[in-house]
Amino acid sequence: MKIFKSKHKLKEEISNIKDISFVPTMGGLHKGHISLIKKSQNFKGKTLVSIFINPTQFNKKNDFLSYPRNLKKDLKILKNLNVDLIYLPNLKDIFTFKVKKKIFLDKFSKKLCGKSRRGHFKGVLNIVNRFLQLIEPRYIFLGVKDFQQSYLISKHILKRKINTKVINCKTIREKNGVACSTRNNNLNKAQYKIASNVVKYLRYKKKIIKKKFSNFKFDLIKKDLLDLGVTKIDYIELYNLKNLKKPKNKKDKFRIFIAFYLNKTRLIDNI
Ligand code: AMP
Repeated sequence: MKIFKSKHKLKEEISNIKDISFVPTMGGLHKGHISLIKKSQNFKGKTLVSIFINPTQFNKKNDFLSYPRNLKKDLKILKNLNVDLIYLPNLKDIFTFKVKKKIFLDKFSKKLCGKSRRGHFKGVLNIVNRFLQLIEPRYIFLGVKDFQQSYLISKHILKRKINTKVINCKTIREKNGVACSTRNNNLNKAQYKIASNVVKYLRYKKKIIKKKFSNFKFDLIKKDLLDLGVTKIDYIELYNLKNLKKPKNKKDKFRIFIAFYLNKTRLIDNI
């Protein structure tokens, strides 16, 4: 496992590697990240994992400061997984070079998290665009848990004719149904239980909506969620993953997209 903190040293190392499978992360590694890394290792070439908590995608300073960090543990996990290359840039390393391609922000960036986290996706695309320019990976591995992020990155890659293929990876969950997330580290036991109840409730509601579409009443669902102990709901919406349309009748496939707070911790999921 080779660790790089400088883009120049990294570039030197990878200049002769033809196929790089790239897994960008913000650290605080969990089973979700591990599944992406293991998947990437089934592709030919080398796996490169980056750890960088990008301040420009946080719209609140406190959220950035309270984001869980544990580099020592992360490096141990990566070593056990036998990852080839690790890139740990600091702000200066990643933000002080000229980008060749402008970011493309699809209009879907205005929905869901785009409404409640102003500037978030611009920050995400800016950093991903920089990583793609530096690393020129053959593949980039992204989790469907952050569906909107993955969708917007795919659109940017397509529009800007970048030679990288997006590999979407399914959401990994804990036994209690909660999607693995670095932010789960900030939950206490009671909040973790509420998060699990939210997933159970939404799975149950999804079944009912599928049977009887007219039964979907946002206000009642929001009230139920608040009664379960949720502090605040940023959004709960239905979308068809294939065409990003809202389902119109019970035959239309859909997922429930949600962003909610448990005290100060914001969680997102799609079910
Ligand atoms: P993050 O470190 O949260 O920025 O996530 C890095 C990558 O891991 C992103 O592509 C996420 O979508 C993905 N990811 C995060 N949580 C999960 C999960 N529970 N299952 C699968 N992938 C995930």
